[in-house]
Amino acid sequence: MAYTLPDLPYPKDALEPSIDAMTMEIHHDRHHKAYVDNLNKALEGNDMGNLPVEQLIMQLDKVPEKIRTGVRNNGGGHANHSMFWTIMGKGKGGQPKGPLSEAIQKDLMGFDHFKTDFAAKAMGRFGSGWAWLTVDKSGKLAIEDSANQDNPLMGSAIGASGNTPILGVDVWEHAYYLKYQNKRKDYLDAWWNVVDWDAVADRFAKAKK
Ligand code: MN
Repeated sequence: MAYTLPDLPYPKDALEPSIDAMTMEIHHDRHHKAYVDNLNKALEGNDMGNLPVEQLIMQLDKVPEKIRTGVRNNGGGHANHSMFWTIMGKGKGGQPKGPLSEAIQKDLMGFDHFKTDFAAKAMGRFGSGWAWLTVDKSGKLAIEDSANQDNPLMGSAIGASGNTPILGVDVWEHAYYLKYQNKRKDYLDAWWNVVDWDAVADRFAKAKK
């Protein structure tokens, strides 16, 4: 069974003006598709390709060494983008509610403080990568970043936390260059307007179980 490119859960122009339709089209149809295709190629003839992609990237130490880098990069790319599309939506933004809001207050000194720290992580990631809001084994929130297509779920195999991401922002230039050129900060400022906090809260509730 091969991995497949998930459809975007909304039209390509749904996140305008924060993220333009052309960027969404190239990002999803070409970049994400390439991760899926290359992941399938790397795993040809290997049973691990039957695992859900999150479980696959949690077990990089079990992946044969000669395809491990390919699975790390392309499995990460597939998992990261699959999540990214679903934590955004049309007319979203605003603030988290309920238990997620309370946890941000308790663990990250409140929503405004969280946004500042998260944006600083995203700005500070040199080159390509992601910034994440994650949940650790005890249910506590943390802000992390990763290089390239690494994911906190990859854990000790790559020196990552093993935490579960519930929100992530793609800071590869391909995520913003067409509209924002080199202005990563402008992209990040606009990105908050499309974050679907209900979707993030769902992930938070599941991660704590
Ligand atoms: Mn990307």
